[in-house]
Amino acid sequence: AAKSEAVIAALKEEVAALGLDVTVHETGCLGLCKFGPAALVYPGQVLYLGLDPDAVRKIAREHLRDGRLVAEHLFRDPETGAAIAQLPNIPFFRRQLRAVLAQVGVIDPGSLEDYIAAGGYAAFATVLGWQPEAVVAAVSRAGLRGRGGAGFPTGRKWAAAAAQPAKRKYIVCNADEGDPGAFMDRSIIEGTPHAVLEGMLIAGYAVGAQEGIVYVRAEYPLAVKRLETAIRQARRAGLLGKNLLGSDFSFDVEICHGAGAFVCGEETALLASVMGRRGESRPRPPYPVEEGLWGEPTVLNNVETLANVPLIIRKGPEWFAGIGTEKSKGTKIFSLAGSINITGLIEVPMGVSLREIVFGLGYGPPAGRELKAVQTGGPSGGFLPARHLDTPVDYESLKELGTIMGSGGMIVLDEASCMVDVARFYTAFGQDESCGRCTPCRVGTKRMVELLDRITGGTATVADLELLEKLAEDVKDASLCGLGQTVPNPVLSSLRFFRDEYLAHVKERR
Ligand code: SF4
Repeated sequence: AAKSEAVIAALKEEVAALGLDVTVHETGCLGLCKFGPAALVYPGQVLYLGLDPDAVRKIAREHLRDGRLVAEHLFRDPETGAAIAQLPNIPFFRRQLRAVLAQVGVIDPGSLEDYIAAGGYAAFATVLGWQPEAVVAAVSRAGLRGRGGAGFPTGRKWAAAAAQPAKRKYIVCNADEGDPGAFMDRSIIEGTPHAVLEGMLIAGYAVGAQEGIVYVRAEYPLAVKRLETAIRQARRAGLLGKNLLGSDFSFDVEICHGAGAFVCGEETALLASVMGRRGESRPRPPYPVEEGLWGEPTVLNNVETLANVPLIIRKGPEWFAGIGTEKSKGTKIFSLAGSINITGLIEVPMGVSLREIVFGLGYGPPAGRELKAVQTGGPSGGFLPARHLDTPVDYESLKELGTIMGSGGMIVLDEASCMVDVARFYTAFGQDESCGRCTPCRVGTKRMVELLDRITGGTATVADLELLEKLAEDVKDASLCGLGQTVPNPVLSSLRFFRDEYLAHVKERR
């Protein structure tokens, strides 16, 4: 989207024309999305931002040939205006703990050798010497919880699947990232696709599965392309297929393209879609670990969850459990969007405050704007007002305040945003994406949007407001799946923290 292909082509051309002994690698996204395309020069880790073909030609001449920094493309601190050349000195990176993202933006995602040189597939080779139960135990000990939203303990899910006597089992990677403003999974796949495959291999070995499927949005063409390349490379290298690395473990992975329905991020709807059925949720139990794809035990994990697994094996469960809070271990990747100086992708230990994320890493809203709220969890999440900025970002603390971590989308709102409008936007999104299977969600969300239209249109009464609140509670309680159960969150949390704004819209007050 930022035309980086033309930038790479121009850089390669200029390097060749100047006869420089410099290799140009394509990488994934470093996370400073607002300032892309970016280039990192080794040695020295000098980061250049906001590049176009002319800029990289200049960098080739002045930096790569003459050894002078090109000041106008260095990172500028939004507060002081000071230029910072080296990536590790830029606060945006210094304040992160990049574990899953450690190689994203560094290695070439199209190179298996790059991934292996960075320690890749060592974890898979290690677990082949363990009993499968030991792998499940290590993931349980680490305290890894699902990064897709619900935060279910991964070890428990794997143990339940491993306990099934079935001969055929599946590992499904949920890469159907549908939240507006979220791009964590896309960046992981685009930046280090082999990490996801390695996580799936380890999961397959642990639970006794032979087949893996990555369910990825067709709207992510680059992610799909890089996954296809990674699968081809892994097959050629004997890392996918039969009798892997001389063991009796066989596992292969295929890609299934999602067609963009938000509900297909819900596990039972996703499985229906993989099997060629309409993407609708179904009641649970039976859970997918008991009856999933084609009735067989199936483990569903999201991209970030799986990408954590090789690290847990390589660095040890104790390393992972030592990061984060008592109940939320490890790191979490967030995408920052909205009214914030630095939009982009970050990885921080669980439990850091919202303030650190929004102001420490993102430099807060642009000059002259005041932070009003942070929306977490996309259409399934809620709003946290500025006074809750010191909330630690972990599963429990966010839930207590009526929102959720979700998959990691974070949208910053300033005082120019009307909270009722924003709540209406998310509710309309949820209503549009409802699969229609159950009445509370299908009809309830429609009635909620109608009420919100009346409120924003200035024709609603206080009674309408009360009805909206009651209806939102009912939809939350009575809907069949996670989509309907969470769609009311934006309305409920904005009513909780910004009721004044709703009252300002209604005709009569008490
Ligand atoms: Fe479908 Fe909504 Fe019911 Fe889920 S809650 S099954 S998305 S209608």
